[in-house]
Amino acid sequence: MTKEQLEQIKAVIVEKRDQLRQEADRRKTNQNSSTSSGEHANYSFHMADQGSDTMEMEQKYIFASREGNFLFHLEMALERLQSGEYGICIQCKKEIGFERLLAVPHARLCIKCKAKEERTKRMRSASPDHQSDESISE
Ligand SMILES: [Zn+2]
Repeated sequence: MTKEQLEQIKAVIVEKRDQLRQEADRRKTNQNSSTSSGEHANYSFHMADQGSDTMEMEQKYIFASREGNFLFHLEMALERLQSGEYGICIQCKKEIGFERLLAVPHARLCIKCKAKEERTKRMRSASPDHQSDESISE
């Protein structure tokens, strides 16, 4: 991949990441406003006392969500971009390819290995917790 292509993909990732972060923030704000009014005022005051525990729970909540999970994978992709490991298939060590990365910027498998994985997954359908990271956006 050329430097320009990498820059292009980086821009896509950063844009998606910022979008997801904003969504997560908005959700957090909504939650706060709904608990600080009316009958729940006492409850939210009590929650505020617990400080960092609440923060930690919020963080966990965000990352447990579908968007949060995706956000995590985008962050990982950015790290790989920085370290120069980006765009290499973790299975066969070949280049994943620009077109695929543009469509799925957090992809870690090339299209061939991905197809192979899909087949394996179908055979292993008895174990639902064996899910691919990439199933998130595809
Ligand atoms: Zn591969």
